[in-house]
Amino acid sequence: SYTMRLQKFLARAGVASRRGSENLMTAGRVAVNGVVVTELGTKVDPAVDVVTVDGVVHTLAEDHAYLVLYKPGGYITTMSDPQGRPCVASLVPTDRYPGLFPVGRLDGDTTGLLFFTTNGELGNQMLHPSHHVWKRYVALVKGMPTPNQLRRLREGVPLDDGVSAPAEAESLAADDPRATPVIPEGLPYGHSVVSLRIHEGRKHQVKRMLKQVGHEVVRLHRDQFGPLELAGLLPGEWRPLSERERQEIL
Ligand code: URA
Repeated sequence: SYTMRLQKFLARAGVASRRGSENLMTAGRVAVNGVVVTELGTKVDPAVDVVTVDGVVHTLAEDHAYLVLYKPGGYITTMSDPQGRPCVASLVPTDRYPGLFPVGRLDGDTTGLLFFTTNGELGNQMLHPSHHVWKRYVALVKGMPTPNQLRRLREGVPLDDGVSAPAEAESLAADDPRATPVIPEGLPYGHSVVSLRIHEGRKHQVKRMLKQVGHEVVRLHRDQFGPLELAGLLPGEWRPLSERERQEIL
């Protein structure tokens, strides 16, 4: 579980400023689990401890976590795996944020942006088809899509589970910075790079769409999820959302 200094808890709970909260403590008006606490270094666990000021209980406003992970290849998108395979849970601070879960999935071999939150309601909303959260993928494929094949991707391609919704599709030049994550050592012979933006989230959707128009995906990377971007992260790293990103999704 996660602990914080009592004066920080009081400030976050809206009781007073950090300094004002310290004054309340030294004045003997603050108790933790029924015991008056004047020691400024005291830590509390917001999930467990009962904090009172003048006998009135205070709790933290809902304090959900929102973060972005750069998923490396070789990790599966689950919070635990009975078979002991590497999973994304080991890359995010689950001790500090119990209940953290990934919003959507990336295949084991897919790299890139995975959004995590403890806010189940928001997560479910974002996954709901009516919400149309756009995701942008970059794929290294065998061969090079023709204009006609790109047009089919844009119009929607027939898949086992129905025609895909219209996508944005374009070929990327090998020196386009967006292409770098799938060609870190340069473009292999006979391959090309495609960018695809979709708002659906069916299993293996990007791989199936490209396969359907004739191009097998060799590497796949996601660089956008709604307003969220990978910007500045290395594989395996995470960061909290920026203030701007929070405002856009909340
Ligand atoms: N589409 C895929 O085929 N795989 C992913 O990981 C994500 C989208």
